[in-house]
Formats: sequence, C-alpha cells, structure tokens
Amino acid sequence: MARKTPVREPVTMTVVPSWIEAHCVIPDGFRKGSAFRLYDYQLLYLANFYRVRGDAPWVPENPVLGPAFVFRRGLLVGPQKVGKNPLIATQVCVEGVGPALFAGWAGADDGYACREHGCRCGWEYPYEPGEPMGMAWPTPLIQITAFSQESTDNTYDALRPMIDDGPLHDLIPKTGEEFIRLPGGGRIDTVTSSAQSRLGQRVTFVPQDEVGLYWPSNGMVKLAETQYRGLSGMGGRASLTSNAWDPSQHSVAQREFESKAIDVYRQFVAPPKNLSYANKAERRRIHRAVYPTDVLREHGGHLDLDSIEAEAADLVEKDPAQAARFFGNILVAGAGHAFDLDRWNELAVKRPKVVPAGAQIAIGGDGSRLWDATALIATEIASGYQWPLGIWYPGGVGAEVPVDQVDAAVETAFSTYDVVRMYFDPPYWESQVSVWSGRFGKERVLEWWTNRPKAMAYALRAWSEAMRAGDVEHCAASDPLCAMFTEHVGNAIRHETGYRDDGGILWTIEKDRSGSPHKIDASVAAALSWEARNDAIAAGALNVETFVSVYEERGITSVGAR
Ligand SMILES: [Zn+2]
Repeated sequence: MARKTPVREPVTMTVVPSWIEAHCVIPDGFRKGSAFRLYDYQLLYLANFYRVRGDAPWVPENPVLGPAFVFRRGLLVGPQKVGKNPLIATQVCVEGVGPALFAGWAGADDGYACREHGCRCGWEYPYEPGEPMGMAWPTPLIQITAFSQESTDNTYDALRPMIDDGPLHDLIPKTGEEFIRLPGGGRIDTVTSSAQSRLGQRVTFVPQDEVGLYWPSNGMVKLAETQYRGLSGMGGRASLTSNAWDPSQHSVAQREFESKAIDVYRQFVAPPKNLSYANKAERRRIHRAVYPTDVLREHGGHLDLDSIEAEAADLVEKDPAQAARFFGNILVAGAGHAFDLDRWNELAVKRPKVVPAGAQIAIGGDGSRLWDATALIATEIASGYQWPLGIWYPGGVGAEVPVDQVDAAVETAFSTYDVVRMYFDPPYWESQVSVWSGRFGKERVLEWWTNRPKAMAYALRAWSEAMRAGDVEHCAASDPLCAMFTEHVGNAIRHETGYRDDGGILWTIEKDRSGSPHKIDASVAAALSWEARNDAIAAGALNVETFVSVYEERGITSVGAR
C-alpha cells in the first residue's frame, strides 16, 4: 500500500457514498430494487460522518479505526418521512461489508475493486492520489437501536430488501427476521428498551434512532451511554437520528446537540423563527424550509408536501406541540396539561341531568388508600354522560380512604342501574375488586391495570378524542362533586411514553409532581369508565338480548393488553 505525505485538511472518504449508490437498492415502493440515490442532505451527512482527519496516521498492522475520523458521532435531525431510516440502512450496509474504515492515503494508481473484497458485482472505484482509502471492518458488530421494536423495525425492514434485492445479496445471502449474519463472523442485531440482551458487546457501529425519545426516565440515556462505552473500546462510532425533540425531556438528542463537544457532527435545519405552525399558510412555508427540495416528488423525490400538510393539519388539532416537532422540525415542549379545560367545560350539561334508574351504565375506578384520592366515575352508555359516584380523599395523616363508603357507593350503583361493566385499577384495592367481582359477576367487574403504558395511552386517547368530537358530556360544576371531577381533569399533566403509532406519540397522565396535592384520580377513573363503555358497546350493550350471550360465548373474564 502506497504511503503519502499526510494532507493538512480533513478529507471525505468519497468511496463511501459511491459504494452505497453502487450497492444499495431502494427497499420499497414503485422503484423497489433499483439503485439507491442519496439525496443531497443524506450525502451531506455521510460526507461529514466519513471525513478523515488530515493528520490521520496509517499503520497497516494497527489501523486507528474510529479516531481516524473528525467526528466520533453524528446527529441527524429531520422531520417525519424525509428518509432517515433508509439512510441509516445504507450506513448499516457500508459499516457491515463496505469500505467504512480509513485504510491510508491513496497513491497514483490505487483504487477500490469489489473483487478484492469478496464482492462479485464488478464495481471499481479509482482513487485520486492523496484521497483517503477505505476498507471493511474485519468483524463488524452492529446494533440497530431504538426505544421500541416498532422503531427498530423501520430501519430493519428497509435494510433487508436493500440487501436481498440488490448486489449485496451475493455478500449476504440470507437476512433473518431477528438478525443478519455477516461474512467473517460479524452480525447485525436490534436493541430496544425491552430487548437489551446483546447490550455491552463489542460493537463497531450503533445507529440510534429517535434519540429524542431517549430520556433519563425511560432508561434510554443509560442504554446509549453503555453503547458509547462499548464503541469507544472498539474504535467504533454511532450515528444518531431524531425528530425535533421536546426540550423539557433532556433526551440524548438534546444533550448531544447542546454539548460543547467538537467531535459530534450535528445536522439540523430549523425553520425561520417568525413563522407560526398553527397558521396554515405559515405552516406550508415551514414545510418548504425543513423538507429538502430534492426529496419532493416535483423534483424527482418520494415526498408530497400536500400529504405532509394533511397529516400535519390533523395532528395540529390533537397535539400542536407534537405536530410542530414531527413535521415542522421545531423544538417545542410537549408537556403541560393533558386535557383542554376550556373544551371540557363546554361539555358540561346546561341543565342538571338525572340518569334514570335501570339505565345501562359503565363505571371506572382508580385510587390508592393512603396517598391519593379514590374516584368512581359513571358513564351512561347510551348518551356518553359522565358523573362521579364518589371521590374520596384519605382523611389526614395515616388515615385511609374509607373502604366502606366506596363499597356502599358501588353497592348503590349496582342496585340502581344496569351496570354493564366496571373497570377498576387493582393496586391497593385488589381484594375489594375480587369481592365485587364475586358479588356482581366476574363478567361485569374487571381488573384494569393502568400500569400498562400502551393500554392506558389508548384509553386516554379514546377519551380525549371523545371530548374533541363532543361524544362525551358531564355534570355541571354547580355540584361540588362535579367541580372536584373537573379539577382532577385540569390537574392531569401529559406524560409521553416513548411508544408511538400512526396517531403520534402515546401519552399517559401524571400529577404535576410526585406527592403533589393536585389529584388526578377522577380523570383516570373517567378514562377507564369511557373504555368500559366503549368495550361494552363493542360487546353488544345497547342491544340487551344478545349482550349476555356474546359474553358467555367468548368466555370473557378479564381484560388483556391491546
Ligand atoms: Zn460490489
């Protein structure tokens, strides 16, 4: 291998993007299987990630690996659907079997020829003299990392067809559902918050996706740091991608972006500050600013700004902060009150309403005995009208919520109305729920664990959507118990879970701080009551004749996770 006097300025290993475009293919859509062409913003990211220090030494028997590069990590922040996952998939390919490592400075006739690297595609890349050359990792270990499996799937599902349907199939004949074996004993795995078994291995490349959702509270900051330690031991590097983050969460994205470290490459196009995301015309200008021109369909790309606007407009209605982050690339805090109290107050009945005896109702219950309030909220199934059967506070230090009073309220409800379903969060009340279940029927009284973040988030979303749609109404604030109910709705603070689906980030609710006197139990109970009502309708309530038989046929005795 030829030696050259080191150049002074850092130089990009141009062989990397060239290799990608010669080997990676489009993973989906109409152009599936055709050559992958990097967008300008993707090329810019890779050009910086693979910039070699001008003074990088070359010792063939002991290469410097990661420290040969200007940057130890890269952070790419961009809006939804801009193509971050396919980009990361191409990077996984090059770090797996391509020329991802610095291999000295090129001499006069040097080049990269695939046939010398086990690839029979015939591709050759002639180096300019003085250009940094590339070589593959001997045993690459790559961990595609995200908070949830849905997110690692976004990259992994782009990666597999990228390999299977193009020239890389020759080098990597088989890609598995769970992991991919690489020639020479390397492999590609996925790591999530709930699947960390391979963490702490001798990783050479770690793409961390959605690092805006890596928080101290969900353990992802610790996980990321473990991976950075593993990488630094191996001379490997990490590539981080994210939407704009919530500045109140102290995520890995935020930390990496705000840190003073000069060996982190940061790429983040923020929109002009004077535009409002809530305003449709200005939102359009924001999208024009943050979505690169060449990703747009009118310029040969994959993306349509009209469909982005349609999705953004829908999300702005439900969650303006999240919409601004997802599609506007704007840093904005999403915490704060979970429910729109003005909207909630609009839903109060104008005249006091009496639900007739014998009406079908659903009940939700939540609470503790010593620390928090306990609330029972009823929903009339036919009308969606909600009212509290009772809200109890523990009476002073050491005194518990009066179990006999709660029991009496449940007894009265069952003897007055046709209670089709009651969901109760069992902690602290487990034995009492069993008692009610025995007394009123296990098909009517069900444990509903609120500590399941996804299930709880879906229940809250359904209740929140019902408020927006006007499907729910509630008793007037002139009644002190109803006023207390509304107070609990106003106290609820949104807490994002890290999970997300097509409707955005899933959130639950919590108090403004641990130990706070501002209780929220009635809002949890109301969401459970609403969930019980929806499930009862789905199971045939309002259609009394078939209802009981549907239950018996299905043998429903408990409610599982969605
Ligand atoms: Zn090749």
